[in-house]
Amino acid sequence: MRRSPETLAALRDALAGWYHARRRHLPWREDPTPYRVWVSEIMLQQTQVATVLPYFDRFVTAFPDVASLAAADEQDVLAMWSGLGYYRRARHLHEAARQVVAEHGGAVPSDPATLLGLKGVGRYTAAAIASIAFGVPAAVLDGNVSRVLARLVAEDRPVDAPAVQRDQWELAEALLDPTAPSAHNQAMMELGALVCAPKAPDCAGCPVAAWCAAGAAGNATDYPRKAGRTKVKPVHAVCGLVERDDGALLVARRPDDVLLGGLWELPGAELAHARAKRREAVAAAFGARLDLAVEVGGHLGTVEHVFTHRKLTLDVYRVRGPLSEAPRPRWYTDVAWLDPAEPDAVPLSKLTRKVLAVAARTRAGGEA
Ligand code: SF4
Repeated sequence: MRRSPETLAALRDALAGWYHARRRHLPWREDPTPYRVWVSEIMLQQTQVATVLPYFDRFVTAFPDVASLAAADEQDVLAMWSGLGYYRRARHLHEAARQVVAEHGGAVPSDPATLLGLKGVGRYTAAAIASIAFGVPAAVLDGNVSRVLARLVAEDRPVDAPAVQRDQWELAEALLDPTAPSAHNQAMMELGALVCAPKAPDCAGCPVAAWCAAGAAGNATDYPRKAGRTKVKPVHAVCGLVERDDGALLVARRPDDVLLGGLWELPGAELAHARAKRREAVAAAFGARLDLAVEVGGHLGTVEHVFTHRKLTLDVYRVRGPLSEAPRPRWYTDVAWLDPAEPDAVPLSKLTRKVLAVAARTRAGGEA
């Protein structure tokens, strides 16, 4: 792709025309306050728009501005994020809201360099907030934009290599329309999401096809090239379902500094290796993490869940124990009895929601 001023101007015009005609109407686009743009950008990291929509509405209704988020209890913030995954994003957003109140008088900064100082805000997010909410001419580069750029220039090197990332940032900046950075950046991301899709790009309907090397060669899906992918590691774990006479389930809060930190779950632990004895591991977890000696009963089901680089297989067992004793959290930081009809009473991960579904099936149809 040539980068003459005429070429760049023509490409920007074609892209802008398409965006204004085809863009999706999303709540953070209709009312792009700095706070709403910021929340949406954090939620959209690693998560699809369709998934984010109901969470976004719930979140900004509960915490309508920086001040209300900053003043909120972390457990309430996590509860609003519950099910969206990647909970560190919620914790960082909460911490950053407190930073904005303490260091910037409650106003989200407009300068990308200042935004970069906020917890959880990287180069992409800083540029997205600055450009979309404030009209600052800062280019964005996310997964969608990277794919479009790799195809435009038929980038043969792996796009995750640092040198290629640098070149892609530079190309994104060269393409940016300095007179309309908000619309331009959103158009690039929208093009990647709606037209230049990973598996089935619609080159025939693409507004920038006239300037696209991969589109012209008919091999768009050969790009972006990736270096060897990280393998997904299989991990095995167990947990125990303790049910009180009234149907309430024993749940425990994970420490803050571990995966799924601060979220609640049925007590359990990861296994040291795939062949470890499951029932003994359940009993050991209750002893070590809750100071409870329990009797492990029937196997209730198996739940599978994929994290970024780990595929977890979790076996769920019925557990009976001296429930007259209040469990004393050791590794866990708190315990509670959860009414399964009200799972939102504490922040739960998607994984624990799957475990609760197993528990509900058990109650409906007997043990496996
Ligand atoms: S022409 Fe095809 S490969 Fe090129 S940007 Fe458009 S959709 Fe993507």
